[in-house]
Amino acid sequence: MHQVELAGLTVDTRHSIGGQRVASAETFESISPIDGTVLAHIARGGAAEADAAVQAARTAFPGWRDLGPTGRGEILHRLADLIEANVEALSQLETLDNGSLLRSHRRGVMPRVAMNIRFFADWALNELSHPVWQTRGHDNVVSWDPSGVAAIITPWNAPLMLATWRIGPALAAGDTVVLKPAEWTPLTASVFADLCEQAGMPAGVFNVVQGYGAEVGAALVAHPGIARIAFTGSVPTAKAIARAAAENLTPVSFELGGKSPLIITDDADLDLAVEIAVEQYDNAGQVCLSGTRLLVHESIADEFAERFAAKAAQIVQGDPRDEATQIGPQIHRVHLDRVAGFVERAQAAGAQVAFGGGPNNDLGGLYYRPTLITGATPGSEILTAEVFGPVLAMQTFSTDEEAVQLANATEYGLAAVVVCGDRDRAERLTKNLVAGTIWVNCFFVRDLAAPFGGSKKSGIGREGGVWSFDFYADVKNTVYAP
Ligand code: NAD
Repeated sequence: MHQVELAGLTVDTRHSIGGQRVASAETFESISPIDGTVLAHIARGGAAEADAAVQAARTAFPGWRDLGPTGRGEILHRLADLIEANVEALSQLETLDNGSLLRSHRRGVMPRVAMNIRFFADWALNELSHPVWQTRGHDNVVSWDPSGVAAIITPWNAPLMLATWRIGPALAAGDTVVLKPAEWTPLTASVFADLCEQAGMPAGVFNVVQGYGAEVGAALVAHPGIARIAFTGSVPTAKAIARAAAENLTPVSFELGGKSPLIITDDADLDLAVEIAVEQYDNAGQVCLSGTRLLVHESIADEFAERFAAKAAQIVQGDPRDEATQIGPQIHRVHLDRVAGFVERAQAAGAQVAFGGGPNNDLGGLYYRPTLITGATPGSEILTAEVFGPVLAMQTFSTDEEAVQLANATEYGLAAVVVCGDRDRAERLTKNLVAGTIWVNCFFVRDLAAPFGGSKKSGIGREGGVWSFDFYADVKNTVYAP
């Protein structure tokens, strides 16, 4: 009754708290965006479950802390091995639950999930050196001490990838964890809890509470027993979490939305520009980092638009389990309607739909066609708000200064992409862009050692490499007299 067989895995529909499976009086449905199938009825937690999970994580904390990086690393490497052994099943399960491409899960995402665990376990062991420097003959010795319980709240667009990007460094730093996955994609988090147990992780080190953000999520982030809040999601939710965190002065790490520019200069390699622009439709546009505003030099705009439309027309949309499919469905009916609403309002405000626009009627269900908007008024909603669907908007510029001014004209600052034929010119452009990550003549190259996060409303803080440990640990300086 509390377990379902999916993708060759047994998925427990209850919370995982202190090494036990715990049910709730109520449940919610997990629905596949591929065809609307109800996959499972998941425990719908609230304040009691959040409290029990925090208590379990607090109880487990001293033991996990005292294992040190070596002891923790052995368990975390076993966990990474188990993820690798289950890549196929986890990929199929994630695709059923969130509708992202099966082939991406198999070849990119799930191997990266294992890497998220392995990399940070190794970093804790090898890279957190304790730099010593002297002040008037005294030694300063820096250490990264485990801080307690990390509450991790994640979205649905890349569920296990985004969860382990936080869980990996938190556990490696010696914190214990309570994860609250998104209610639209609860399944792989539950399997992950089983894998932690199989890897020999002590009970209570990793806990999962399932349910709605406004219920169990809100109770978790308001809990005085947590030491850190790592949140990935939208700006409105971040504001609610920040208010809750303020009450206990709990440190937060926020990775939020974006409205990233993709600047294409007049000396750009146009084949590359078109290729990178089409990539922005990946994951059906449900990617925080997407360069959704195409800023194209006016002298090449017509040629670019023609070639881009021709390339976009070849995109294969369909069942995300098919090898040939390039983009799948939107996550949920509510989200599809939201995406459609942005395009309808843009048209009503005078913008044109250059191609796409509207659901894909050949496929039905939750499929929205790759769409390009042109002629939108500067400052209008479609040029400033995050759509989070396969909808790009194109603008033109005449000088590099104007490109930068347009690029920076949103409240977001997550990423930027520049396609440019000259390195010096690209450097002048990037210097003035406000963004956490900028890609020049490439897209989505991400190194776990590099800082990652958003400027302006796209986030608070940076993670990756030592930046992750600076957040999850209590950084301490001890001064020894000579
Ligand atoms: P969301 O903010 O609606 O929800 C994210 C999570 O927060 C969910 O688990 C939800 O249940 C929970 N939540 C909601 N209200 C809460 C509350 N009051 N207290 C505690 N938790 C609460 O976001 P979403 O729609 O799931 O995800 C899409 C957003 O995530 C987009 O804005 C996207 O850009 C962003 N995102 C950012 C990154 C990044 O790395 N910067 C990565 C992926 C997604």
